[in-house]
Amino acid sequence: MSRSREILASMHEEGKAILLHVCCAPCSTYTITQLRNQGFGVTGFWYNPNIQPWLEHEKRHESMVSYAEEIRLPMIRYEIYEMPLFLRAVVGKERFRQRCAICYRLRLEKTAAVAEEHGFDAITTTLLISPYQDQEMLQRTGEQIARQHGLEFHYENFRQGWSERGHMTRTHDLYRQQYCGCIYSEWERYNKAVLDDLLVSIEGPGDE
Ligand code: SF4
Repeated sequence: MSRSREILASMHEEGKAILLHVCCAPCSTYTITQLRNQGFGVTGFWYNPNIQPWLEHEKRHESMVSYAEEIRLPMIRYEIYEMPLFLRAVVGKERFRQRCAICYRLRLEKTAAVAEEHGFDAITTTLLISPYQDQEMLQRTGEQIARQHGLEFHYENFRQGWSERGHMTRTHDLYRQQYCGCIYSEWERYNKAVLDDLLVSIEGPGDE
């Protein structure tokens, strides 16, 4: 993966060069503004094999790319859609928190590997803005992975910008997804139910 001139420029800005894992354009809005205001040189990183199906993945990615162009955010896209890796990783572990732990790890591990390869100082993720994500788990996982790659994990409670996120999403007319990303979350959203209950009715109570 080669570094574009924009990425190099963002890395030479004052402050730390941070690789920001982006889950979608709406969650990136406030997060990028906040990081830039703190003096970070921000580059976005797209790696979301959890987003299914493919067309939904592409819609979210296109929206992110056009927003990035608008705000002059350099972006790296991991070129392979590794959806099978995600599905294999969560087989038998599809319950809500269990699958999310795997999902966070998969995305943050790739972010850290790419950040290390390109010489960034730190990583973080737009997932930290969402009240639907487990912030504590994200922090713990992010710090552990970053340490293993000789990086810092920038933890910040971006949730305070949740309403600003909504405002910016409307202002920039960004694509608004209806579910978190994986096919399990899609089922949960449209059935107004939790997958855990479906699993219990299929296979009986789990270990948890
Ligand atoms: S609900 Fe969201 S965070 Fe959890 S596994 Fe699915 S896509 Fe990942």
